Amino acid sequence: MNKIIRKIEELEEWRRHLKSDINFIPTMGNLHYGHQKLISTAKSSNCNINLVSIFVNPLQFDSKKDLKSYPKTVDKDIEIAFSTGTDVIFIPNTIDIYPPNNKSISYLKASKELSSALCGITRKGHFDGVCTVIYRLLKLIQPKNLYLGEKDWQQLLILKNLVSEKKLNINILSIPTQRDSDGIPFSSRNNLLSKNEKTIVKFFSNELVHSQKVFKKDKKIELNQIIKKLQSKNISIEYLEHLNAYSLKKVQKEDNISILAGAIKCGKTRLIDHVFLMKRNPIIAIDGPAGSGKSTITKLIAKKLKFLYLDTGAMYRALSWLLIKEKIDYNEKSELNKILSNVSIIFKTNSISHQDVFINKFCVTEEIRSQKISSIVSKISSIKEIRDFLVKEQRKIGESGGLVAEGRDIGSTVFPDAEIKIYLTASIEERAKRRKSELDIRGSKEIDFNQLKELIRKRDLDDSTREISPLTKAKGAIELITDGYSINEVVEKIINIYNFKIPKEIQIE
Ligand code: AMP
Repeated sequence: MNKIIRKIEELEEWRRHLKSDINFIPTMGNLHYGHQKLISTAKSSNCNINLVSIFVNPLQFDSKKDLKSYPKTVDKDIEIAFSTGTDVIFIPNTIDIYPPNNKSISYLKASKELSSALCGITRKGHFDGVCTVIYRLLKLIQPKNLYLGEKDWQQLLILKNLVSEKKLNINILSIPTQRDSDGIPFSSRNNLLSKNEKTIVKFFSNELVHSQKVFKKDKKIELNQIIKKLQSKNISIEYLEHLNAYSLKKVQKEDNISILAGAIKCGKTRLIDHVFLMKRNPIIAIDGPAGSGKSTITKLIAKKLKFLYLDTGAMYRALSWLLIKEKIDYNEKSELNKILSNVSIIFKTNSISHQDVFINKFCVTEEIRSQKISSIVSKISSIKEIRDFLVKEQRKIGESGGLVAEGRDIGSTVFPDAEIKIYLTASIEERAKRRKSELDIRGSKEIDFNQLKELIRKRDLDDSTREISPLTKAKGAIELITDGYSINEVVEKIINIYNFKIPKEIQIE
């Protein structure tokens, strides 16, 4: 379908009769490779209709001169948009988007916290204008997915905040910043640069990318030195800041993902660029009560994201195996401490879907699932020395991130700084139903449904009232109640949470 819509009435009429979902890609035209990548990414993600809007929004320009000089190339844009996978192009007029004296148009304010940093400091009202136009377009188009570039990271954060504040049922998906072969991010404003100015922008962008490499190695950057280096090339810096990537507040020691973001002025043209800095890869912590489906779901997420699956339960089981093998009396502290000082537990992936557990070089993957181990592991895991030891080991494994861990105390104790914390649960009724069908498959008739419910209730109480690391919903955890959802639906929900939070640019490929 190749369709151009210019009038709002026409858009509304078309929308009323449309049966498919829409991927919406808002742009201000003068399409370049960054826009093309957004359009083609949306096209290849699903079978939805791809709708691109071209509208130079006057509300987000703080100067009339800037608005006037913004490159406008509609005929070429139409050609590019259709050839990269656009189905419908919406090209409204300013008067239609902002009809004068129309009280039904909401003029919005952007989040104060997010818009009072970086570009918001000098571009007063800019993000209010962005929110106003995007909200107006979202209301008209009613898309399922909104595709945005991480190139405008502050804008992306502000629009995510807008969508959640207005409780719009829209997914926001993003793509990494697309750069030219010389390292400069594609931008419509690049067309306004002279050859000389381009050299300056190239130096600025390459310096940011270089700082990212330095950070990867040293886990720190010297902001003042970078500023001095840029100034030595006569680059006019509006700002250069190292901030928490989500709050846009000054970066703190404990922050894992941060951004180094800058704006420079090149002649009359203002350009922005940023890089993400990350101390370790992201961590996903999944906690929840017994029978909530944690293991199955965690394993599938690890496979999908190519993350390490940290099965903390297997570590407690492996240690139980060793204590039995070495005939250790674990109530005897000196004996216990002696063996703990000599334990190494590692996970090795032997194929894409299978992970072996080794303790002191013994592969114990199968043996730790025996009834003998199951009967003592709960006792072993309530011993403080053992918990302290294994929590330390788990943190060691998680040092470079890129892992999804499941347990009872992952988000609260082991990785309180995990980027994604999930509290996976289901009603007692649902968990008993799941357990019952597992038992039925095995032909076991020892226990009836009501007894199962009672056992689960008791286990929940034990887990949540025990002294060491009780089961609780960690601070910042998202609760997922899985009643009525299939395993794949829950996995998809968690992957969506991950994609929403972690910039595509720093996701492990
Ligand atoms: P604009 O036309 O500048 O308003 O941009 C429209 C969309 O394209 C926004 O979501 C931008 O973040 C995105 N975009 C612009 N330039 C790039 C780029 N170089 N890489 C990735 N996305 C971009």
